[in-house]
Amino acid sequence: MTKITPQPGILEIAPYVGGVSKIAGMSDAVKLSSNENPFGPSEAAIEAFRRAGFDLHRYPSTDHADLRVAIAATHGLDAGRIICGVGSDEILHLMCQAYAGPGDEVIHTEHGFAIYRIGALAAGATPIEVPETGRTTDVDAILAACTPHTKLVFIANPNNPTGTMIDADAVRRLAEGIPETALLVLDGAYAEYVEGFDGGAALVGARDNVVMTRTFSKIYGLGGLRVGWGYAPGHVIDVLNRIRGPFNLSGPALVTAEAAVRDQAWVEKCRADNTRQRAWLAAVLAGHGVPSDESHANFILARFADPQEAEACNAYLLSQGLIVRGVAGYKLPDCLRITVGDEASCRRVAHAIGQFKGGAR
Ligand code: PMP
Repeated sequence: MTKITPQPGILEIAPYVGGVSKIAGMSDAVKLSSNENPFGPSEAAIEAFRRAGFDLHRYPSTDHADLRVAIAATHGLDAGRIICGVGSDEILHLMCQAYAGPGDEVIHTEHGFAIYRIGALAAGATPIEVPETGRTTDVDAILAACTPHTKLVFIANPNNPTGTMIDADAVRRLAEGIPETALLVLDGAYAEYVEGFDGGAALVGARDNVVMTRTFSKIYGLGGLRVGWGYAPGHVIDVLNRIRGPFNLSGPALVTAEAAVRDQAWVEKCRADNTRQRAWLAAVLAGHGVPSDESHANFILARFADPQEAEACNAYLLSQGLIVRGVAGYKLPDCLRITVGDEASCRRVAHAIGQFKGGAR
């Protein structure tokens, strides 16, 4: 037996399981399991990535100034309060590392994104799971769960995997109600899918206890590039910059993300397409006896009669070359999360679910 052991908490973390991404022997399989943009990145982003290949011998920028300025210009924010990371995952981890440790509590919601709990345990802190109401973040339940040990409160808005969201008043009430020593982290990975939504940026600007995280992995179609960013009060930016890797983002990642954020026409096109396809898919599935809560993101949480039916449907979809996501690990064993794909994929998955409900297995 080795005497070398990791920090307490780390062995409580189950390694992240990404799910199926390919089906052997099925070249027309469609992946609707990771909430990726079916159209990929904009042409401008692809072009910037190609050009970046010429500078591979150079270390990248350490302060990400060009990308931060582009993000700030697009969203009307202060570039000095932006931090960029290797996906928003890195920012969420840095928040835990910087603000939570042994004896501290980190709140996340019942069906919240897995990384909040992982980040808390990795930092030696205690994750506290708070129940939701009808698969939606419950502000009163979170406030009731706060203690003098609460250091971080994570919510995703819209939430993954439920697709639900809470309004700006509810978020403000949360920011005003948490202990003075705690930070509220608003995970806006899906914020761009909500027309006219700032992800909580105005609240960050108005307070010193709110942080917002965003990503290039979803609507920008750049999940493979690993770029995310955070908007935070100056005191938080200062802390995070002390611990992040100086060259955390590669040169190609920086220039590609910059071109992507400057191309908002692509974002608008993808948002409009998602809204249309999502409404169609939700309505057709409901017609097949598979309801879902109103989704504000690029996926639908389809509800089946019971966990056995959800599992059987998942197996049937796989046999038809359709990869969706089982969410039993998120305590939703009777549900499947289906990414809103392009029109052809939505038709295919809706048709297959119709066949399954009609008796095909
Ligand atoms: N937050 C939420 C709610 C997510 O669903 C995801 C990706 N699945 C992330 C954060 C992390 O995204 P990334 O690290 O790719 O930016």
